[in-house]
Amino acid sequence: MEQGGKTALGWAARDATGVLSPYSFTTRVQGDDDVTIKVLYCGICHTDLHFIKNDWGISMYPVVPGHEIVGIVTDVGPGVSKFKAGDTVGVGYYVDTCRDCEWCGAGHENYCAGLVPTCNGVDHRHGGAVTRGGFSDAVVVNEGYVVRVPDGLPLDRAAPLLCAGVTVYSPMIRHGLDRPGKHLGVVGLGGLGHVAVKFGKAFGMKVTVVSSSPGKRQEALDRLGADEFLISGDAELMKAAAGTMDGIIDTVSAWHPVAPLLQLLKPMGQLVVVGGPSKPLELPVVAIVPGGKGVNGSLVGSVADCQAMLDFAGKHGIGAEVEVVKMDYVNTALERLEKNDVRYRFVIDVAGSNDLGSAA
Ligand SMILES: [Zn+2]
Ligand SMILES: [Zn+2]
Repeated sequence: MEQGGKTALGWAARDATGVLSPYSFTTRVQGDDDVTIKVLYCGICHTDLHFIKNDWGISMYPVVPGHEIVGIVTDVGPGVSKFKAGDTVGVGYYVDTCRDCEWCGAGHENYCAGLVPTCNGVDHRHGGAVTRGGFSDAVVVNEGYVVRVPDGLPLDRAAPLLCAGVTVYSPMIRHGLDRPGKHLGVVGLGGLGHVAVKFGKAFGMKVTVVSSSPGKRQEALDRLGADEFLISGDAELMKAAAGTMDGIIDTVSAWHPVAPLLQLLKPMGQLVVVGGPSKPLELPVVAIVPGGKGVNGSLVGSVADCQAMLDFAGKHGIGAEVEVVKMDYVNTALERLEKNDVRYRFVIDVAGSNDLGSAA
């Protein structure tokens, strides 16, 4: 299964305890259309927690997590046209798709059934090797799944945009929630929500944060620039805001009632779910039928969406709020992430970490 490329040094989980430790492996050989990337920073996404603990029963150990990668191109294959050594680039949630289906053809490859996740994916095009993510010092990726990081964006703050950023940006574009004067609701103020607030404001929208935590009011309004703050448990406030929002991005991963959120929408407004509650949400039809409202899902975004999002972020100086850590802190960071004890995203300074890699 190993492909005889270069030695990469990283950290991996060996079993469902999810504890990471130094790990060495071999990348695949750089092909004609591949770029080799030296990883500088990698964000820690909630999905990484699911992969290292085998929450979905699909983990293939050792698991090297990480799909919010920013790095420098160190080498390119002879067929690469978009990138050259020295370029600053990013890699997000996936590193390949089938490139042949209706969705790949239409630029919605993030919905391809053959999507290969950056971490814990089966790379059929390369002998079925298991993909290893950005908690390591090198990745080899087809150039079609690599994006350019614009000049001027701090690279640590750019890393979380590769997953968290595009996850909220893509549905905002798709549902027209990118226009001045519109009113956006953002439910949940974590890794995803705080970036949605920033994009919403940069689009010139009115942004209201809906949260179950009254303590986040100051953060939302003063630090992130939201216009209003609604406590989801305050029935009176929620009623007063009924029918005012053009769309809502719901980032909450814990189970929560959606009917009160749907009530906030104007007629024909869309609630877009991007979080992943494991228990089914309740959808009373009376919450959507009378106003012709919709509930949508959305998963990350296309490569083109991701590039457009980064370009927009570069132009408007948008980065995630991050806590930068070294690799030897990663197990503590993952424990803290599980308790939502981070404002708002951990980012590993991979290139600045010592003690990467050791005997498998
Ligand atoms: Zn992610
Ligand atoms: Zn496809």
